Amino acid sequence: MSDITEYKDVWVFIEIKDHVEVHECALEILSKAREIADQIGQKLIAIVLALDAEQYLPTIEDYGVDKIIYLSHNDLKHYHERVFTSLIYNLIDKYKPSIFLFPSTEAGNALAARLAYRCRTGLISDVLNLELSDDYGNNLLISDKPAYLGNVLVKIICPSTRPQMCTITMGTFQKKKLKKKDVEIEEVEYNYDINGLKIKILGAPIRKDKPSSTLSDAKFVIGGGHGLNSKANFDKLYDLAKYTNGQVGGTRRPIMNGWMPEHLQIGISGETIFSDLYLSLGISGAIQHVVGITDSKTIVAINKDPNAPIFKVADYCIIGDANEILEELLDHYRVPE
Ligand SMILES: Cc1cc2nc3c(=O)[nH]c(=O)nc-3n(C[C@H](O)[C@H](O)[C@H](O)COP(=O)(O)OP(=O)(O)OC[C@H]3O[C@@H](n4cnc5c(N)ncnc54)[C@H](O)[C@@H]3O)c2cc1C
Repeated sequence: MSDITEYKDVWVFIEIKDHVEVHECALEILSKAREIADQIGQKLIAIVLALDAEQYLPTIEDYGVDKIIYLSHNDLKHYHERVFTSLIYNLIDKYKPSIFLFPSTEAGNALAARLAYRCRTGLISDVLNLELSDDYGNNLLISDKPAYLGNVLVKIICPSTRPQMCTITMGTFQKKKLKKKDVEIEEVEYNYDINGLKIKILGAPIRKDKPSSTLSDAKFVIGGGHGLNSKANFDKLYDLAKYTNGQVGGTRRPIMNGWMPEHLQIGISGETIFSDLYLSLGISGAIQHVVGITDSKTIVAINKDPNAPIFKVADYCIIGDANEILEELLDHYRVPE
């Protein structure tokens, strides 16, 4: 096994979504990776493989990188596991990154798994938080990831092999633009012979259009839960959002009840919010929901049960009937048509 002290720098795999744009999740990861690189005094390096990869460099440069390593070639137009694994493994072997982060997407998860195997290192998938700690060793990365159907969050470390590798769930971190001076750019020569491949990728994946939510950018989020008791009551959240310039989201229960579309779910399998204010109405505070709201600056929770778990994470706890309080808020904020 190679000496782990030889490994340095924080790498991020920049996925090019459907070969047209930098994946948002990669930009979110860059912002967190910048913090980590600063904490350990090492470089943040973005890795890009694409057809005409140069066109993506200006976007990546806006997110705090010290260096971009890229490969640009016709064969990289479509993501191919064998090609990408081989080329990136060569880079890891040459430069020895200490940390390597990937978007938790189809391509990111598949690629990270193959690379982790090739490097004989560990991989932590679907990570929801990252921090550095000296508790288990020098500047070790601690990754929080859900386990047991999301009922617990576990902390995982990779103490004795490198790189420390994670895939990170979309929406976990907030992307922040930051332009560093003198970003170093390195083009690496493409040297893979695709003639031996058994599978050729002929086109980009065909995806169903899914509505997207703007919850992660919203300053004021109004979250509704099963405790609102009916679709008619839940619909009143949209009125409150209209009067207060807020955004409606909620738990999984209103989706199951048919009150709310799926893309507005907040939590482990939905969006993470970073609002200034989160108002929660009739929500119990299951861990799967709570992990999506704790980055909000202020949480106000309304629940009729004084022992509801949501009160453990709320800054302001209102014990009462959410529907009655919702009516009062509407009376207060209603703007005459
Ligand atoms: C693998 C997995 C992933 C999941 N992912 C997510 C996820 O991403 N996001 C998510 O939200 N959930 C997720 N869930 C579901 C999660 O476990 C909970 O079931 C869900 O969050 C509960 O929603 P709720 O709080 O609206 O409903 P409930 O748990 O039924 O809570 C309703 C609350 O309303 C209160 N209440 C009732 N009437 C009133 C009233 N009139 N006024 C005030 N309060 C009232 C009750 O006291 C109760 O606390 C996931 C579950 C699994 C297994």
